[in-house]
Amino acid sequence: MSEISFVTGGMNSSKSTAMLIKAYNLMEKGKHVLILKPWRDTRDEDVEESDANTRQCVFNSRIVKSDLEGFATKNVAQFFEKDMRDLGAALPEVIFLDEAQFFSKDDITYIEKLNTEHDIPVHAYGLRVDAFGNFFPGSEQLLRIADNLEDMSQYCSASGCMNKAIMGLRYGRDGKVVKTGSQVEIGGNDKYKAVCRKHWKDGMQR
Ligand SMILES: [Zn+2]
Repeated sequence: MSEISFVTGGMNSSKSTAMLIKAYNLMEKGKHVLILKPWRDTRDEDVEESDANTRQCVFNSRIVKSDLEGFATKNVAQFFEKDMRDLGAALPEVIFLDEAQFFSKDDITYIEKLNTEHDIPVHAYGLRVDAFGNFFPGSEQLLRIADNLEDMSQYCSASGCMNKAIMGLRYGRDGKVVKTGSQVEIGGNDKYKAVCRKHWKDGMQR
């Protein structure tokens, strides 16, 4: 049986870069690779409100500018059962999930079904917890079912701290740590800082 891998890491831990390198590598080996991300990840794009379930997109990372195409989708089951057929696309040989934390539990359960029934390996990349220390639904489900877990977290962004940055702090426009709010708020370095457990606690208690 093909395996499901889940690579976790704080923000800026080069998860997407690692994903692009692995995807390229498999494509060079002649594999039919599919890269999917949740619709709501709109950081690199100008996305309008839409009734569509799926849009095409190009995958990049902070470090690598690529021309790898894939899809952003609102519902994974609908993507595989309808959208892919409409696009005339065949089932892939390898599935990559970018920003996997934002997928729903049902999305990940569907991916697991594809993995088991069609023997398709899955490589998922994402954050483990949100800015308040709670699981994202996609990550929680992946942590339950993944055959392989890997962590790519890098150094804490607090000055002089060499601890692993497994958490993230969200900052408001006033420069203060946001302690409550919606789980999903798309943003980059302007809004989030990757920090270690200790500095996350310090930030949340200040
Ligand atoms: Zn730290």
